[in-house]
Amino acid sequence: MTARAAAAVPCLAPGSTVGPWAGIDLAALVHNLGVVRRHAPQSRVWAVVKADAYGHGMLTVARGLQGADGLAVARVAEALDLRRGGIDRPLLVIEGAGSPEELRAAGGLGVQLVIHREGQVPWLEEGGSPDGPEPLGLWVKVDTGMHRLGLEPGAVTRMLARLGACRGVRVLGIMTHLANADTPEDPLCEAQCAALRRLGAETGLPLSIGNSAGVLAVAASRTDWVRPGIMLYGASPLSGRSAAELGLRPVMTLGTQLIAVQRLRCGDAIGYGGTWSCPEDMPVGIAAIGYGDGYPRHAQAGTPVLVRGVSCPLVGRVSMDTIHLDLRPLPDARPGDQVTLWGQGLPVEEVARRAGTIPYELLCRVSARVPREEMPG
Ligand SMILES: *Cc1c(COP(=O)(O)O)cnc(C)c1O
Repeated sequence: MTARAAAAVPCLAPGSTVGPWAGIDLAALVHNLGVVRRHAPQSRVWAVVKADAYGHGMLTVARGLQGADGLAVARVAEALDLRRGGIDRPLLVIEGAGSPEELRAAGGLGVQLVIHREGQVPWLEEGGSPDGPEPLGLWVKVDTGMHRLGLEPGAVTRMLARLGACRGVRVLGIMTHLANADTPEDPLCEAQCAALRRLGAETGLPLSIGNSAGVLAVAASRTDWVRPGIMLYGASPLSGRSAAELGLRPVMTLGTQLIAVQRLRCGDAIGYGGTWSCPEDMPVGIAAIGYGDGYPRHAQAGTPVLVRGVSCPLVGRVSMDTIHLDLRPLPDARPGDQVTLWGQGLPVEEVARRAGTIPYELLCRVSARVPREEMPG
């Protein structure tokens, strides 16, 4: 066989290929930022766009969120991707620099960094001032009870003195992260906020506490800056309260098509392991999406899936590229019919519950194989 010229491979127009897609509704994103603003009208907003904007496409979301005061990511590499993509807004790196090289790269690009441990300071003391036009902006992270990242509250004063002696840096604020804000009645939430507010009163520095759950349900966490992520994407961070109840609109709708309809007999076993058998003669649909696209392999039989808007439960094991659907609710379904896995008409929280996980994980794990498409507003 002769080698084929790459240029001869046709490009198929969007919409003409079969397989999953993730529609991104930028109007919903802007609406959800409005919900943040209504709950925390006095706060400035770092919109959290880490992990490819929770799977939605980091640059698309960054461009769609012009109304946020800044964008927050977890790692320096993500901040560099945003700068490379032409995003010229304030950026915050939540985990801070992991090496002197990262620190210098971020400093040169006007990216603000979190200092969460003593070991990050010598890079500032020894490396001299980072070579950006402005001082490097720093936030000191305090561990008020989550025990993940941050200094203990008693170590903050000494840290501020140390940073004050470094050239070319400026401490912009102190921050902490809530461990249990999804259950806002947990007394730890208030205790964490009080601990950071005490440090704020002592140091006079701006504070940042609230994540999405804090913004929605913990008043004391609505500080100078808040850091919402999941609620911007239209999913609920609160156990027992739906996104719709909170006035949030889903940004991602994950869809695909039916690629086959099988007319099966009572007793026929379905898919790998034959874990589900037809209780009667019935139509079973095969939809073009699987765990290779990020649909959760642990989704149980009975997880709702919409075919042309009608709920047709998942049956059998999820394969890499396909799932099986019970088409008894829609017996005239045909190959080519539109299938919705979550998003408009089907909350991602419901799918997450059936798969033993949280919406964050489902959204983040939509794989690179799935094209993201901006939906017309
Ligand atoms: C991811 C993250 C957030 C955003 O959390 P949501 O629950 O998605 O709102 C805020 N702050 C920190 C430190 C984070 O790591």
